Amino acid sequence: MQNIYFDHAATTPVDPRVLEKMLPYFTDNFGNPNSQHAFGRRAVTAVDEARDTVAKCIGAKPSEIYFTSGGTESDNWAMRGAAHALANRGKHLIISAVEHPAMLSAAKELQREGFEVTLAPVDGYGTVDLAKLEEAIRPDTVFIGVMAANNEVGTLQPVKEIAALAKARGIAFFTDAVQAAGTLEVNVKELGADMLSLSGHKFYGPKGVGVLYVRSGLKLARLVAGGHQERGMRGGTTNVPGIVGLAEALRLSQEHLHENAAYVAGLRDRFVARVQREIPFVKYNGHPENRLPGNANFSFRYIEGESLLFSLDLAGIAVSSGSACSSGSLEPSHVLLAMGVPEGLAHGSIRFSFGRENTAGEVDYAVDRLKEIVVRLRALSPLFPKELKNEVFPQEVK
Ligand SMILES: *Cc1c(COP(=O)(O)O)cnc(C)c1O
Repeated sequence: MQNIYFDHAATTPVDPRVLEKMLPYFTDNFGNPNSQHAFGRRAVTAVDEARDTVAKCIGAKPSEIYFTSGGTESDNWAMRGAAHALANRGKHLIISAVEHPAMLSAAKELQREGFEVTLAPVDGYGTVDLAKLEEAIRPDTVFIGVMAANNEVGTLQPVKEIAALAKARGIAFFTDAVQAAGTLEVNVKELGADMLSLSGHKFYGPKGVGVLYVRSGLKLARLVAGGHQERGMRGGTTNVPGIVGLAEALRLSQEHLHENAAYVAGLRDRFVARVQREIPFVKYNGHPENRLPGNANFSFRYIEGESLLFSLDLAGIAVSSGSACSSGSLEPSHVLLAMGVPEGLAHGSIRFSFGRENTAGEVDYAVDRLKEIVVRLRALSPLFPKELKNEVFPQEVK
């Protein structure tokens, strides 16, 4: 039985070197950084070092780094914290239509609290339309949030340009860099971000730990009330092993950043080329070049994404479908719909996300199985036109 993991956008395994570095902070060095004794001091040192490492990796100052419970909390904190801190200046916020559910849910809550939120539209590749975003800016706009890279289709956003638009108008700009970090360079100065989020488990670190970068001088209300941790901005006993692990994972990811990105992009390109050549009626979603190295997202016409996912799982290949089945109903992906992908096609979409421990052999095995499964599912599909049953040549679906 194969055990192939092509779902790195959902989570990654912890790098053994990261685990090694974390382990002492569960056992011998288990202290609480708030404690006034040697155990506490050792924990403080570890967290200080981790903060320095993270700051250095993203071009920030240590005092601008806040540790959180993950990307979701960081996203919520950035948006809600900025909205509440800046509400006296205006109550209008802009985020892109393809943001992570963490942002979309935070936006809904803020709307219920009386804030107005505009969703900036994207083009067919999932790229934010700069002109439309600029048009959406109003005198009372206080926050713009646009992700660096999309988690479903991998499209990279023109973050620098958007940051410049925001800066020229004194609007706080946030970017969710959860998918970008680990394979692409993420530098807060170069991007021009006022706030930026990271999550440990997306770059071979542990789950349940994240970062929010907040530019010094920016006003932000706190999200998690509690003790005086994180300079009084985020309560809760410090997750020392998690923080140590996140910092080590980020540091390691930068050691061979370009080689790893090129390797993963090579696997992805091999996969994409074979699928486009060997499987008819597929649509490659997202930007053809300007995308994450490890992401390939395809719509398979006449097929339900869920059936494809289950069949691939039975063949020992782990992937993700674009549907949000958390709600119980199989909603098509909001990202694909925002890109103008028709609903039927959006239902037949699968995300393959590759990582540095994958091999070309795994890619070839997966394409071979995928070809068989697609033929079988289409033969069973009431949607598949009979006259196409013998169609073997690839054809781009528009
Ligand atoms: C995974 C992800 C998140 C959420 O991060 P968690 O640490 O899992 O809460 C947020 N944004 C993007 C783009 C992601 O891919």
